[in-house]
Amino acid sequence: MAVFHDVLQRLGIEEVNSGVYRGEWVEQPGGGELVSIDPSTGEPIARVLTASRDDYDSSVERAQAAFERWRVTPPPVRGEFVRRIGLALREHKRDLGRLVTLEVGKIASEGEGEVQEMIDMCDFAVGLSRQLYGLTIASERPRHRMFEQWHPLGPVGVITAFNFPVAVWSWNAALAAVCGDPCLWKPAPQAPLTAVAVQHIVNCALAGSGWEDLFGLCISEGATVGQWMAADRRLPLVSATGSCGMGRSVGAAVSGRLGRALLELGGNNGVIVSETADLDLALRAVVFAAAGTAGQRCTTLRRLILQHSIAAEFVERLIAAYKSIRIGDPWEAGVLMGPLIDERSIVGMLQALDTIRDQDGEVLYGGRRIDRPGYFVEPAIVRARPDMPIVGCETFAPILYVMECDTLEEAIAMHNAVDQGLSSAIFTDSVREAERFLSPEGSDCGIANVNIGTSGAEIGGAFGGEKDTGGGREAGSDAWTAYLRRQTCTINYGHDLPLAQGVEFDVS
Ligand code: NAD
Repeated sequence: MAVFHDVLQRLGIEEVNSGVYRGEWVEQPGGGELVSIDPSTGEPIARVLTASRDDYDSSVERAQAAFERWRVTPPPVRGEFVRRIGLALREHKRDLGRLVTLEVGKIASEGEGEVQEMIDMCDFAVGLSRQLYGLTIASERPRHRMFEQWHPLGPVGVITAFNFPVAVWSWNAALAAVCGDPCLWKPAPQAPLTAVAVQHIVNCALAGSGWEDLFGLCISEGATVGQWMAADRRLPLVSATGSCGMGRSVGAAVSGRLGRALLELGGNNGVIVSETADLDLALRAVVFAAAGTAGQRCTTLRRLILQHSIAAEFVERLIAAYKSIRIGDPWEAGVLMGPLIDERSIVGMLQALDTIRDQDGEVLYGGRRIDRPGYFVEPAIVRARPDMPIVGCETFAPILYVMECDTLEEAIAMHNAVDQGLSSAIFTDSVREAERFLSPEGSDCGIANVNIGTSGAEIGGAFGGEKDTGGGREAGSDAWTAYLRRQTCTINYGHDLPLAQGVEFDVS
């Protein structure tokens, strides 16, 4: 941790940090103390004081007050403030990236990559701030004009997962801001320091602007603040990223009060490799998608479906490639796999491997805990059958199930036979196979790729998944519409009052 000392200082991280910001830092928030752990060593990095119910309530009140002013600020002016945040992130890219590496164990290029994603989101949102278009619709009545417009919604509650501790905040915050909505952020308990650092960077960007209360932070030890958000009618939208279990709970609470939930939940992503594929390309993509980020991406490849004729050779090459993955301190050059996030994840992985054996799966490679401090494991390759119940579950660790099929139809059926529906891919050089995979009879996921792995999406596309993944869409395309309320307007510029559908109602 000594190597990070300067980084922490430059990002404003102290030994004890306030975890509540609402226009100013709350010096002594009334919740408990949360210790941030370096997963590479198991050692504490620093402590964060978390929010009490009172802290949370006053944070929501500040966000409501900010909304009153922000909603009438023209969107391109809002974009200017997001542009400033993007510039500040550019300045702190390396330091914030290193903090991601320190706190959640991502390798250095991925830590910085996350910050690049934040910068890209800011740029995207700035452009969007001049493009929040509505439609003009043909009216059936003479001398009437009908159109749609989009208005700000209100303060947005943003709940994030540990594995994208900063990027997912920006997916929400950048869009919400240009749409006219302040944000209150509840980060994952495993990554409180990156959240504090992001808040510091945002504060620098907005200092003296009068908009210091646009982005708030409310850290809790566990799920508490997230549960308060889900039940809180003052937050018309709660955007929640995390496991399917979390999504079920948040989704039920938000829909119970008839609010809006944007859910980005667990994946169980599959790749089909056809016998026509460029196997060198497929191999490189499979290794990154399955073992990259230590298997802790929502888009991590978990199920590999190989056509029989190429299966044996592909598995042999895959094992050889896995053997060459350097595992170790995530900031060291050449290391491709850092630690899992915590002891619970290690236990979860080892238990899943026991279950795999009980269900007659065969561990072909890896799966052992590495004997050193911190939470390091070997990535595992498992020979599996689609009817093994564990194959339907997302174990958030690097376990890759390898299965075989004869035909593309069989492969697609196998691919779609799980509850989650986030990311998917096919490797093929056949146009027919590729198009079939992308057709309505093909992949049932929110993301479907050809000759690209399941992970590593660009921000320009809408990101999210179907089925138990929750149906939410964030980042690019028209994901912005989630942060606004739609209003359909009709103007009569004539002197008659014709009714729609030819209804007559004369009172003269
Ligand atoms: P998690 O579900 O344990 O926690 C996610 C966040 O939700 C945390 O901030 C947590 O405190 C909060 N939370 C948990 N239970 C809650 C509840 N009942 N009410 C309100 N808030 C609650 O997930 P995690 O372990 O941090 O992250 C890994 C999971 O997230 C995986 O399932 C992964 O696939 C998923 N994920 C999905 C996406 C996506 O975009 N689809 C992105 C990243 C991670």
